[in-house]
Amino acid sequence: MNYKLITFGCQMNISDSERIASVLKKIKYRPVLDENKADLILINSCSVKQKAIDRIFGQERKWQKLKEQNHNLIIALTGCILEKDKKKFKDKVDLIFDIKKLPELPKKIIEIQQRAKMQQYLEIKPSNIDYFYIKPKYSTKNIAYVPIMTGCNNFCSYCVVPYTRGREISRPIEEILCEVKNLIKKKYKEIILLGQNVNSYNYKFSMDSISSSQTFNFQFLNKFKIKNSKFKINVITFPLLLKIIATLPGKFQINFLTSHPKDISDELIDVMVKCKKIKKELHLPLQSGDDEILRKMNRHYLVDYYLKLIQKIRKKMKKIFLSTDIIVGFPGETKKQFENTVKLCKKIKFNKAFISQYSPRPGTIAAKLNDDISKEEKKRRWKILNNLIN
Ligand code: SF4
Repeated sequence: MNYKLITFGCQMNISDSERIASVLKKIKYRPVLDENKADLILINSCSVKQKAIDRIFGQERKWQKLKEQNHNLIIALTGCILEKDKKKFKDKVDLIFDIKKLPELPKKIIEIQQRAKMQQYLEIKPSNIDYFYIKPKYSTKNIAYVPIMTGCNNFCSYCVVPYTRGREISRPIEEILCEVKNLIKKKYKEIILLGQNVNSYNYKFSMDSISSSQTFNFQFLNKFKIKNSKFKINVITFPLLLKIIATLPGKFQINFLTSHPKDISDELIDVMVKCKKIKKELHLPLQSGDDEILRKMNRHYLVDYYLKLIQKIRKKMKKIFLSTDIIVGFPGETKKQFENTVKLCKKIKFNKAFISQYSPRPGTIAAKLNDDISKEEKKRRWKILNNLIN
């Protein structure tokens, strides 16, 4: 059996696709590039942009044709999909599953194969099964993505992640260390810790609760003042997690994505400065250089805070590579407010920026606002920033 896996979106989705590939390999499905040769087309969709959902929706006819040629073809959909979109896809695909239910995918594929004649649509609802347990089939040989948390509590007004992925869940440290050690053994050169809001990683545990893990070394954690006490609740914050990973022996570098400006602590900056294994790179989404727009975006910081943060970081790491995300044409963004973003970017001199032209994502607070900036104007603003930074 062959499968074609189509991934939209950020590194988190790419990382999820590596786990999907691993599950499919176990049930002897082989990856193919050509959809015509596939028995399973699996789309892992992006959460933030409506465009991805629209593009998938536009594939419907092609899928129907492929299904006419291959009656065994299964079309499945996962990723960050709003309930509203799930309803839209219900009649178009055979299966929609929450990524947290990935371990149940093989069982569901068999069910669909058996019930093929009944043309039955299936949905795997979320459960507590931990899909992080699945060992991914890494797509590159040098760089590996390791998810350390999922979900988000920030509710930026334009984003669907808190609705589709749910609230923040930090992955157990013993699992992260096990995956990282394995990658070091396999000589991976760069390990990228992933999360929608990576620097809010916060894992609470008692030593008692992880004592059952055979791969976990208690002594190793003692040097970080983490006590092997039955009653003590230990907290692993993101800076501490970085410190712990950086002490693992081996030639590798650590990077992480994506940080929220409000969660960049002095402690995190100090750890970045001191640990040679941590790459001196930081992706720090700005989104807008205007206070009023930042408030409307519900970003939890203002321009002055962001600027001072960058100055603090640059003072301690002069050669740091700084990248950012910016949205142009957010509802109501005046020319003056856009100019404020341009001015701020001139001041900061980012090394790279991922600039997007605002498009409303149904289900978000911002989608209720009047999308009043024309396409041409959004494009113009995009060009100005792109020429300035990239
Ligand atoms: S921080 Fe904002 S943009 Fe990022 S995932 Fe959370 S809600 Fe979305």
